[in-house]
Amino acid sequence: MLPHDQTAPLDPADWEEFRALGKRIVDDMADYMAGLRDRPVWQPVPQDVRDSLAGGLPESGAPMEDVYEEFRATVLPYPRGNIHPRFWGWANGSGIPVAAYADFLASVVNCTLGSGENAAMMVEQQVLAWLKQIMRWPDTGSGVLTSGASMGQIICLAAARQAHTGETDIREQGALLAGTQFTVYGSTETHHSVEKAVELLGIGGRHFRQIPVDGDYRTDVTALRAAIRRDREAGLRPLCVVGNAGTVNTGAVDPLDELLSVARDEDLWFHVDGAFGAFAQLLGTHRPLLAGMNEADSLVFDLHKWLYLPFDISCVLVRQPGALEDAFSSGADYISRTSQGPASYPLAFADRGIEQSRRFRALKAWFALKTHGVGAFADTIKGNIDQTAYLTSLADASDRLETVSRSDLNIVCFRYVWPGATLDELNRVNQGILSRLQVEGLAMPSHTVLDRKFVIRVANNNHRSTEADFDFLVEQVLSAGDDLRVAAR
Ligand SMILES: *Cc1c(COP(=O)(O)O)cnc(C)c1O
Repeated sequence: MLPHDQTAPLDPADWEEFRALGKRIVDDMADYMAGLRDRPVWQPVPQDVRDSLAGGLPESGAPMEDVYEEFRATVLPYPRGNIHPRFWGWANGSGIPVAAYADFLASVVNCTLGSGENAAMMVEQQVLAWLKQIMRWPDTGSGVLTSGASMGQIICLAAARQAHTGETDIREQGALLAGTQFTVYGSTETHHSVEKAVELLGIGGRHFRQIPVDGDYRTDVTALRAAIRRDREAGLRPLCVVGNAGTVNTGAVDPLDELLSVARDEDLWFHVDGAFGAFAQLLGTHRPLLAGMNEADSLVFDLHKWLYLPFDISCVLVRQPGALEDAFSSGADYISRTSQGPASYPLAFADRGIEQSRRFRALKAWFALKTHGVGAFADTIKGNIDQTAYLTSLADASDRLETVSRSDLNIVCFRYVWPGATLDELNRVNQGILSRLQVEGLAMPSHTVLDRKFVIRVANNNHRSTEADFDFLVEQVLSAGDDLRVAAR
């Protein structure tokens, strides 16, 4: 047994030691971030490191300096790459440094934000108010921060379902007993997380109707109306139209105002997936493109993508106050409200989503927005759009490159081409080019397949990229293509 004035040894025995290591970590990480450009974007994890990272449960402890050294040797040199100035893969953000401090501070105060009266809860409310302002969302709307847009889709579709079952208590009865077969509509370009949400809610993946797109990868509104009509005639219950403010493949923005009209005409919930693209709302030039987004019933967007915050932080906004609580509040005695004190606070984020324990992720948004001001984010986003347009112009100008998809946002898909090449040869060579860029750590676009064409896909959510990085990318694509094309014959 411990002497009564001693705690278990999980706090530092010596706070001076803790302080000294912290200072060293901050020094090292500042150097690391300042030197990102000099390192490869990515490198494979060597076998000895893999072995070390597969080691067993530590039975006894080690000095934290030793553990930190191990981190420096095994984890730090082998990141995913998205912090590097030449990473443009998938839809990842780059992570702004001040937010890393906020994550540290959030762990120190270690608040859980399910409910309760404390400053952390108020920070999340404040951040939500700011995000509503950015998205030109009505003040009266409601929201919650989540881990990612995938979680957000589930929350929003659950709210939609609850709002559209009226008298029937679907939470109590389940969809089967309520006798309601819902259908949900989104384009073939809709992110797979929407279908996952449809599956999880018991609506059934086959009741997610994949509506065809036009030549610019935007939902075909006529086909959408026809699909809704067909389902009604078949006795199904259309629930929700999903619009994309930036598809993950090509950055296409659906005609959101037209989708809104369809939803209003048909009395359906209108949900917008703005995972990265919603932040273009910060730019006056792009607001017409996003018209209708801020009139949706629900919207999701990721602050860890085009607001450059470290993972994970995402936001759900809902138009109808109380809609989230209708879908998620619970009456458990052990979390019921008291008349005063810490448990008396009228707001519970746990009643707006699935999680009860919730980390203080609002703090990094609060810190970043206060430090940089919203204007710096707007400028950086505009910079990313301009860089993407620049890259598109380089591809357009080269007779060895073909722009396969372009967008008003931050995604361009292109490929290396030469006269007389077959589809197969082009696909093989472009896979080879991408692989060389990635494996050699030169640059990290990702890929997709558009109309059977394997394309190099650049999605620019990176606050560190410069125009020169795109010149470099094009040079590397051309030289790899020139090499590989010879071998492709
Ligand atoms: C990234 C993305 C998602 C999924 O979001 P997560 O934050 O990864 O859960 C959904 N839709 C689009 C368009 C995306 O780009």
